[in-house]
Amino acid sequence: MPSNRLTYRRRHSYNTKSNKVRIIKTPGGELRYLHIKKRGTAPKCGDCGEKLAGVPALRPHEYAQISRPKKTVQRAYGGSRCANCVKDRVVRAFLIEEQKIVKKVIKESQQGQKKR
Ligand SMILES: [Zn+2]
Repeated sequence: MPSNRLTYRRRHSYNTKSNKVRIIKTPGGELRYLHIKKRGTAPKCGDCGEKLAGVPALRPHEYAQISRPKKTVQRAYGGSRCANCVKDRVVRAFLIEEQKIVKKVIKESQQGQKKR
């Protein structure tokens, strides 16, 4: 008669976060614990905290194993900031530059009037 109690299959014997199991039925009809790996967390945008599209959620070790193009997107700040935040940054930088030019032009026109 099979017992209905299961035992861990590894040497780690505490019910901790890193020792989670699932009960499975083997092909031989036996019930046994299957050790589950921790879930990865998706990288998030550094500005708004949104999950980044195009980058998979993996464990740190798994990131070390995959190639660079799988961890980033081909854009300025790709793999670090989301598309909307990059758009905001571009627009903001553009407006600041425009403002500088406007100030310069005003200053020049005022100096020109003084000389006359
Ligand atoms: Zn963002």
